[in-house]
Amino acid sequence: MQLDNWFVQTEAQRKRLEITRQLSETFAKRAAEHDRAGTFPHENIADLRACGYVKWTVPREFGGEEISLYEFIMHQEQLARGDGSTALAIGWHVGMILSLRTSRAFPEELFRRVCESVMKDGALINSCASEPATGSPSRGGRPETTATPVENGYRITGRKTFSTLSPALDWILVTAGIADSDATGEFLVRGEDIEIIETWDTLGMRATGSHDIVLKDVFVPESQVVAVKQPGVRTERHNDGGGWMLHIPACYLGVGLAARDFAMKFAATYQPNSLTHPIADVPHIEQKLGEIELKLLPARTLMYDLAARWDAADAADRPQLRAYFGAVKMEATNRANEAVDLAMRVVGARSMAKSLPLERYYRDVRAGLHNPPMDDIVLKSLAKQGTALYRA
Ligand SMILES: Cc1cc2nc3c(=O)[nH]c(=O)nc-3n(C[C@H](O)[C@H](O)[C@H](O)COP(=O)(O)OP(=O)(O)OC[C@H]3O[C@@H](n4cnc5c(N)ncnc54)[C@H](O)[C@@H]3O)c2cc1C
Repeated sequence: MQLDNWFVQTEAQRKRLEITRQLSETFAKRAAEHDRAGTFPHENIADLRACGYVKWTVPREFGGEEISLYEFIMHQEQLARGDGSTALAIGWHVGMILSLRTSRAFPEELFRRVCESVMKDGALINSCASEPATGSPSRGGRPETTATPVENGYRITGRKTFSTLSPALDWILVTAGIADSDATGEFLVRGEDIEIIETWDTLGMRATGSHDIVLKDVFVPESQVVAVKQPGVRTERHNDGGGWMLHIPACYLGVGLAARDFAMKFAATYQPNSLTHPIADVPHIEQKLGEIELKLLPARTLMYDLAARWDAADAADRPQLRAYFGAVKMEATNRANEAVDLAMRVVGARSMAKSLPLERYYRDVRAGLHNPPMDDIVLKSLAKQGTALYRA
């Protein structure tokens, strides 16, 4: 068994993984340039469209491959080994389609339209919920973006931050407060109706195009209204446990694996003239390399285990997995940060060179700490789930 294919279970997965493996190698060659310039990798997105990856989670009824969550995260991990930014960006689209496939959170006709546009034109979708005033939407703040009811729909005005994939989006799921009411809503906006303000200039994940987007009096017809919710009213109907969000840990574990591979190869081949053997046989290096494996393998195993459980679970049982998906995300992002740090210690001062990828991995992997769910929310959810049985 090839260690690279540790989690592959079927021939169809292996074949498709070969496609994403080749793309990953191509993306790795382009990554440093986009990272340095902070540019969006349009050519990578074109490649992902051309090979069909953007359609792989679309339901079979609309002509897609309907791949499982388990397989989806395998590809995400693979893509991130080449370029974390591209993997994170496309992960939102491919994951959202997977999630909509199981949650059916969109009105049926709207979901059909979106899927048809993905199949026909390679259209891309993401959810843009973050705003400066709310911070992470997972904290429950009311959006300041406002939707005003008008004849046959709504007019939406506001500004969203951290809008990943924005330069390539055809569909944007936007959250907004309903004017003159406590209610909030979700609206599907067309990419051509928004303005992108290029604000994304950050330490890591620099090529994700996570700019601000501005909506000025954008008309959204009734057919593109996804939900209008009263505060405090929870609807369980579309709750699928959020398995698709495993694309986030998959991405950062992919970056960790890339750092591991670099450090392993370096240690096995670098032999300074103070030694009669490569540094791989020096005890403190061996220890660090072993620790890297011990950071990544358990986190990966947990992630694939949870994905398989979600794939196999009945719709009614999936919501119970949510807290454990958070555990995967927290474990994966923290261990990936530690693995990259150890890899850099193995390589030494060269690890900081701009001509090598390690310093980019170090910056990219840091962003994982600020993707949802945040660590404090994960721990709180696990505690709440654990004590729920015993509460009066
Ligand atoms: C690379 C990247 C890509 C992203 N892509 C997207 C995207 O496509 N779409 C999207 O909508 N968003 C996206 N986000 C945004 C992300 O989901 C968060 O909204 C964003 O990172 C802000 O979260 P925060 O915790 O830093 O900010 P804040 O929520 O402002 O938190 C700042 C600090 O205050 C603390 N804090 C704030 N409120 C509370 C509270 N109520 N209780 C306890 N502590 C609190 C936090 O713990 C943190 O320490 C992306 C983020 C990153 C880094």
